[in-house]
Amino acid sequence: MIADKSNTFVESAVWKEKFPNLTAVFTTKHGGISKKHFSSLNTGLHVDDQPNDVIQNRHIIAQNCGWDLKNWIFADQVHGTRVVQVNAHHAGMGTDSYEKAVKAADGLWTFDQGLGLALGFADCVPVYFTEPETGFAGVAHAGWKGSVSNITGEMIRQASEAGVCADKIHVLIGPSIGKCCYQVDSRVIDQIPQELSEHNKLYEVIGDNQYKLNLQELNKQLLMMAGVKEENILLSEMCTACHEDVFFSHRRDDGKTGRMSAVIGWRE
Ligand SMILES: [Zn+2]
Repeated sequence: MIADKSNTFVESAVWKEKFPNLTAVFTTKHGGISKKHFSSLNTGLHVDDQPNDVIQNRHIIAQNCGWDLKNWIFADQVHGTRVVQVNAHHAGMGTDSYEKAVKAADGLWTFDQGLGLALGFADCVPVYFTEPETGFAGVAHAGWKGSVSNITGEMIRQASEAGVCADKIHVLIGPSIGKCCYQVDSRVIDQIPQELSEHNKLYEVIGDNQYKLNLQELNKQLLMMAGVKEENILLSEMCTACHEDVFFSHRRDDGKTGRMSAVIGWRE
């Protein structure tokens, strides 16, 4: 992932070259107007920050991406596996009010150009999806619950049902908490789908009922199981907790922190 000039977001150099008309960005904590532990580019409306500051921050990002915020769509995320197809009628949902966001959804996708699909993150894995021939674009929020429940597989299932070939879908797994910083216990490990063949790549045992889990790799294996080609999956391998200078991190900041946004959409 590379940073933009103003550092309000990072993006994949590989995808930028491969899909010049696609916006797929992950915002940083820099370049906004929020104060204290939300300093400065908090994009989450549900974390007790000043709503007007958050909305202004979202306008700053939209402007830096060359979009109008009125064409973005946000979701009310619940660590579930519900994935929702949206279209131009949903434009603007949740941009200035959490209550108006797409209800109880952790994945959004569309065939419509000109829409920016946006989800909030502070350690969970942002997963971006696209297939240029059909104009498919989607984004999913995969924390440990969404990951072990296979939200990424659900996204591929819905896209396939709508006529997109899974083996033509490209996926970018963005910055999230890395294995370096993500300690979990058997409550999490026991829920990893058994059918994944390379369990040894997913976590490391570090003590009695203590593991270090690689959420990005877990999602990669689930995507391959759903029919996505390995060569079409790109891992950012960036850790949000390690990069304190760039990202908010729920675990590192003890819950008192802002949210980054993952945004994807084909420009008109
Ligand atoms: Zn780390």
